[in-house]
Amino acid sequence: MHDEVKSAALNPYEMAVEQFEAAAEKLNLSEDMREILRQPKRELTVHFPVRLDNGRITTFTGYRVQHNVNRGPAKGGIRYSPDVTLDEVKALAMWMTWKCAVVGIPFGGAKGGVICDPKNMSPGELERLTRRYATEIAIIIGPHGDIPAPDVNTNSQVMAWIMDTYSMHEGYSIPAVVTGKPLSIGGSEGRNDATATGVLFVTRQAAKHIGMPLQGARVSIQGYGNAGSIAARLFHNEGCKVVAVSDTRGGIYNESGLDPSAVLRHKQEKGSVTDFPRAQKIGVQDVLEVPCDILIPAATEGVITVRNADRVQARIVSEAANGPTTPEADKILFARDIIVVPDILANAGGVTVSYFEWVQDLQSFFWGVEEITQKLEVIMNRAFAAVAEKADQYSCEMRLAANMLAISRVAEATQVRGIYP
Ligand code: NAD
Repeated sequence: MHDEVKSAALNPYEMAVEQFEAAAEKLNLSEDMREILRQPKRELTVHFPVRLDNGRITTFTGYRVQHNVNRGPAKGGIRYSPDVTLDEVKALAMWMTWKCAVVGIPFGGAKGGVICDPKNMSPGELERLTRRYATEIAIIIGPHGDIPAPDVNTNSQVMAWIMDTYSMHEGYSIPAVVTGKPLSIGGSEGRNDATATGVLFVTRQAAKHIGMPLQGARVSIQGYGNAGSIAARLFHNEGCKVVAVSDTRGGIYNESGLDPSAVLRHKQEKGSVTDFPRAQKIGVQDVLEVPCDILIPAATEGVITVRNADRVQARIVSEAANGPTTPEADKILFARDIIVVPDILANAGGVTVSYFEWVQDLQSFFWGVEEITQKLEVIMNRAFAAVAEKADQYSCEMRLAANMLAISRVAEATQVRGIYP
């Protein structure tokens, strides 16, 4: 089968299992251990009614999947989208297990999703949907069992509703049941910038690894949401030149560098980065192919494929998004000596500061932003060094090395705990 056709036919869960099997093979993992780790522990599907503003009732479908909890409680975001599928949620839950293991934080992996179109729902409808979904999954979430967080199309307000709903059922406030909350109810300093900050930290290490100065390095970013727009600001402040950015409507390019804050203001006013003055308009896909030193996919999955991988001009690809590179494209980039800092490492800053939030909530003792940034940097740098060492040892791409490191840690925890009963 042609690579491209094969890639299109792969569903996200099949892709996650394929990546798992490749790492398991390289690790010589026993068939018994593979049998345990390739399946999620729990998959909950819920169908629940919500009264819409027009008085009618619609039944929505939601999921919560816990992949593995041998290293600690399950952790993972909740996404709202018309395209959510159970297989997508299962894949994302598995990737969360590896992500927490690769940065060495004591969580297992989970993910949730509701099939809905939040852009066409009122705040009242979203609140009723969230509270009912939270009630339906309350049988498996909790501060010591499974701790949700924001993901695509959910935010701190949605987390506040989940926290409040769960707390109402218990009879007292339980802030540690979710992370990514507003600061006023137990959220953490630094959580908003955490993913992009983590991307900066690992990209610094990757640049050092290949002897490339960040000062003056040209950066191209796909996606201008939470991860992308904050990464643009942080890389600009680091002395890089952000030459291209994009969103769903298109991209903009200026070889002398864009002002990320001005671009953000433009997007907030006009709804898109396109038509930003003092820049050349480019296509949605062009942002991946412009001349640059660092490419940051920060939008969605499956964007670097066999079709464009040979036209990527960057020396480093830092994956802020989850799953932006297909397995076939990975091989092309590796053969071209382009370093790909894989998603489970590059964007792990978000879950790491979520871990800090959970710890602070459990202790009811809160840290300042300097302490959080410093602790985050230690964890990200340590994880990068461990993955880079493994990649050198096996002469393989960083994704395989990161998966091997993560899977061996989860396998060890599973082995030492033993099989119950
Ligand atoms: P977001 O919704 O805030 O922003 C997404 C941006 O991508 C928007 O600007 C949107 O217009 C753009 N976009 C979507 N599809 C696009 C396409 N095909 N081409 C160009 N632009 C496109 O989402 P986010 O929180 O920034 O997340 C982005 C990615 O980063 C996702 O893959 C998410 O899973 C991952 N991620 C985010 C976090 C986090 O803390 N925000 C943590 C880990 C991983």
